[in-house]
Amino acid sequence: MMRVLLLGGTGDALKIARRLGPTHVYSLAGLGKVPDDLQCAVRVGGFGGADGLTRYLESERIGLVIDATHPYAAQISANAAQASRAAHVPCWALRRPAWQPQAGDDWRMVGDWHELTAALAPFRRPLFTLGREPLAHLDEIPPHQFWTVRVLDPHPDTARSRTLAARGPFTLDGERALFALQAFDVVVSKNSGGGATEAKLEVARERGLPVVMLRRPPLPPAEREFAAVADLLDALRTVGAVGATAH
Ligand code: NAP
Repeated sequence: MMRVLLLGGTGDALKIARRLGPTHVYSLAGLGKVPDDLQCAVRVGGFGGADGLTRYLESERIGLVIDATHPYAAQISANAAQASRAAHVPCWALRRPAWQPQAGDDWRMVGDWHELTAALAPFRRPLFTLGREPLAHLDEIPPHQFWTVRVLDPHPDTARSRTLAARGPFTLDGERALFALQAFDVVVSKNSGGGATEAKLEVARERGLPVVMLRRPPLPPAEREFAAVADLLDALRTVGAVGATAH
């Protein structure tokens, strides 16, 4: 049977991994939780760049790479595309569609941390929901701001910042309660797409709050691209990599 290497680290990737049998490999960078209840093999940690990944594909006789990494994990996606070409192995990708602004939204698009802090200058109580990067800038918080930073793992608070350790999915009611309690005046977000973390955008809309949105990085084209887990599982079924049971 064709052996699949699934590059993951997202909830969608885990859904695919749950459908893979023992022949296949689920790969994680090692930043989050490592599931211990999968039938497929799980490996953790980097491959050593595109060259290391090429060697891995060859030595492990991988027949198909699936890039189901996060849309902002641009390095591993680039490595997957390059290594697959070098090893003559097809690369399929799950490319989660971006969120689109709706009527009433006030999105302020930024390309990097410098633009992001400039866009935040008029505000006092931002909620950061784009991962750990703000934690490296806590000593740069302007005197008029108090930051709330939502991340996966706890981090010490400072006089002008608080960390919320939480993992999605986040519910609409939970987000409404959080926003009401903390009186955020702006939300900072990646355009991750998907339903797990979308509720914050709905609450920002309800409360008339701007969203400072970090643009998506460019990703390489893949041999086949899928917008939904179910479509990718259907394609895996047609090549015999997963069984015929329901999604
Ligand atoms: P990145 O910048 O694209 O990748 C950095 C390095 O981490 C890669 O060059 C690779 O190391 C290693 N790596 C990344 N994903 C891997 C995987 N699935 N298996 C093995 N090695 C992997 O990625 P990132 O933005 O730091 O994100 C790291 C992981 O967290 C990704 O797997 C991603 O799916 C997940 N994640 C990221 C975000 C985000 O906002 N960036 C959000 C949620 C989840 P080598 O070069 O040594 O192979």
